Amino acid sequence: MKSQKLGTPEPFAALNRIPIHDNKEPLVDLRVACPKLIIGKGVLPYVRQRVAEMLNLASAQLPPGHRIKVHSGLRTLKAQSDLYWRHFKELENKHPDWPRSALRRANNKYFAAPDVKAPPGHCTGGAVDVTIVGPDGKTLDMTSPTKGWEAAYTYSTNLTPHAFANRRMLIESMFDAGFSNCRDEWWHYSYGDSAWAVRTGEKIACYGLIEPPENHSYAGPARPAARIVKRRYRTASSSALAAHRRPRVVRRRTSG
Ligand SMILES: [Zn+2]
Repeated sequence: MKSQKLGTPEPFAALNRIPIHDNKEPLVDLRVACPKLIIGKGVLPYVRQRVAEMLNLASAQLPPGHRIKVHSGLRTLKAQSDLYWRHFKELENKHPDWPRSALRRANNKYFAAPDVKAPPGHCTGGAVDVTIVGPDGKTLDMTSPTKGWEAAYTYSTNLTPHAFANRRMLIESMFDAGFSNCRDEWWHYSYGDSAWAVRTGEKIACYGLIEPPENHSYAGPARPAARIVKRRYRTASSSALAAHRRPRVVRRRTSG
């Protein structure tokens, strides 16, 4: 049976019609605001304050030992633009006969365009890409037997019951917390941005474009202090090194 696609479509024309009244809510650092989350390496780990609170709510819905992993948070407009045009180029190479409008339409399905009125969700601090990590430290299977974009549609009927049960765990925890989902990407959830407004029937978006905090940093394993010290020593002169060297302790036996 051909069923109607679940979830609300979000064409750009609809996104662009949503007025944005940014409520000026600040960005918070997920590493501090949501200590139970796992943050992927290289992620710019900032979201609006309310989004962080909602991620904590979603996290609390999961069975014991399960944790939400964020593999994309805030993106600069430049990062979004690079991502968008890189995939546009790939599509163009794959389908050289397609007109530009068709290429744009196909690309827009999976990447928010950086050059339209509605700002991309990830550039507003309202969107996150998430999955769930199980008690054994492994990411839950949410895609088998499909892969990549073939597995992207949230309500795909091509999944094993096990993969769909895992996906449903994510859907339910995120929806309970107040997020909306992009139906074409099972991992993409947002609140407050233009796409959220279109999906939920809200008339106004409360998050517009926002810049990363000054002094922002990307998530990643902390570099071991010893390696940093070693590198610094290598470039220092030997006399400077001598000053930092720990004097050798000679243990003497006090009795025979
Ligand atoms: Zn996303």
